[in-house]
Amino acid sequence: MPDFEYDLVVIGSGPAGQRAAIQSAKLGKRVAIVERTAVVGGVCINTGTIPSKTLREAVMHLSGYRERGLYGMSYTVKQHITIEDLLFRTDHVIRHEIDVTRHQLLRNQIELFAAEAALVDPHTIRLTDVAGHGQREVTAAYIVVATGTSATKDAHIPFDAQRILISDDILRLDRLPRTLAVVGGGVIGCEYASIFAALGVRVTLIDKRPRLLPFIDAEITEALGYQLRQNRVTLRLGEEVGGIEPIEDEHGARVKIHLASGKQIVADKALYSIGRTGATRRLNLPAAGLEPDSRGRIVVNADYQTAVPHIYAVGDVIGFPSLASISMEQGRLAACHAFGVTTKSVPELFPYGIYTIPEISTVGRNEEELTEQGVPYEVGKAQYREIARGQIIGDNTGLLKLIFHLDTRALLGVHIIGEGATELVHIGQAVLAFGGPIDYFVNTVFNYPTLAECYKTAAFDGINRLGM
Ligand SMILES: Cc1cc2nc3c(=O)[nH]c(=O)nc-3n(C[C@H](O)[C@H](O)[C@H](O)COP(=O)(O)OP(=O)(O)OC[C@H]3O[C@@H](n4cnc5c(N)ncnc54)[C@H](O)[C@@H]3O)c2cc1C
Repeated sequence: MPDFEYDLVVIGSGPAGQRAAIQSAKLGKRVAIVERTAVVGGVCINTGTIPSKTLREAVMHLSGYRERGLYGMSYTVKQHITIEDLLFRTDHVIRHEIDVTRHQLLRNQIELFAAEAALVDPHTIRLTDVAGHGQREVTAAYIVVATGTSATKDAHIPFDAQRILISDDILRLDRLPRTLAVVGGGVIGCEYASIFAALGVRVTLIDKRPRLLPFIDAEITEALGYQLRQNRVTLRLGEEVGGIEPIEDEHGARVKIHLASGKQIVADKALYSIGRTGATRRLNLPAAGLEPDSRGRIVVNADYQTAVPHIYAVGDVIGFPSLASISMEQGRLAACHAFGVTTKSVPELFPYGIYTIPEISTVGRNEEELTEQGVPYEVGKAQYREIARGQIIGDNTGLLKLIFHLDTRALLGVHIIGEGATELVHIGQAVLAFGGPIDYFVNTVFNYPTLAECYKTAAFDGINRLGM
């Protein structure tokens, strides 16, 4: 093999790139990460996951949302919540996460280039310094492309970051809107719609598909739809957006959204969230023999290799499910594959966490998938209100649903909506991983009073449905 400067160069310092780099460094490899923004962490730390989840937590706390089930709808911790109240918390967490990540990379002897990367040939990358200190080239035996995505924009829509925005702009808002139109009922659209609604903002959520989050179990998304409506969100499903324009009326500067059906929606602000495009435009992929698809994404095989085997692609740049959690694992797996380390990761057991209000989490297969696959199953359900902890925390609407095989009683899927769903799901995930039956939950003692008890109640419910 010719002599390369690095064993691995990773392009992009988001979760996928970080894990690929750290795993390789742990294997004693010479590793560099190239990052084109001034800070490490990618969309995850700087504009996406961490800010939105911190914002959500700030909203949950200041609005007193969690307590409303007990103290009534008018309960609040702070009247007149401002955007500054919310950003105070996000800024603090973002700063901390950047520092921890940077420290982790440097501690593992990973060289960090603050530069924009573009391919010159299959082993050479040109680095253009972000501070304007010129260009240089580096060579690597392996390359991991972990450049992530940016929000997809429509050239006909006059985005201005204040009235017509993408999710990145939320962190730069001058004030909270009284009314908000969210275009796109995917994960990000649903999360922000529910977060703003919890603040008392009148939200209209528009999506051209007939249902929200179609990859999630229908019973769970129906429950989400119900909760959103309870929080005064207007759902406009099966509606196509024809155009968005800024307007001035007696209420000031606002936006008007034209739907193809002829309806019009006027709101203070519009959040455009119809999907994300792979950040590959400036990578010069053809120089390495690669071509992105029409949405800027890179096609990979099961080991995350592109059509050029020593170039891997991981994280959001390869498409669904576009989650930080899974991006991290893809990065680790790509590095292990490149350097000949065997792994035992099981992608079917990766959970989805969706931080709407209420939050959703699922692992395994859902009812629609099992029906389509002709797998005989039964379900067992527990409502949070049946559980002492549900009463204590005032969550009267949470639901945990187990799906299990009709004959073997093996657990097939866990689907949860309600407080703590994203944590609770991991219990079911472990049982799924070991191929356990739902009887496990019947024969197990859970701490009392906990939400985890929902597993036991749901298992009893499922077994009762078998007529035993
Ligand atoms: C609003 C929002 C909320 C989200 N919430 C969640 C959540 O709750 N849970 C969850 O698991 N996921 C969530 N996600 C998704 C999550 O953020 C992504 O899955 C994750 O960040 C993808 O990681 P990545 O490493 O692939 O890319 P990114 O985090 O996007 O990082 C890519 C990096 O590559 C850099 N880069 C791009 N091109 C170049 C180049 N040519 N040269 C050098 N550097 C380059 C970019 O600057 C960026 O820093 C959310 C996303 C958004 C937008």
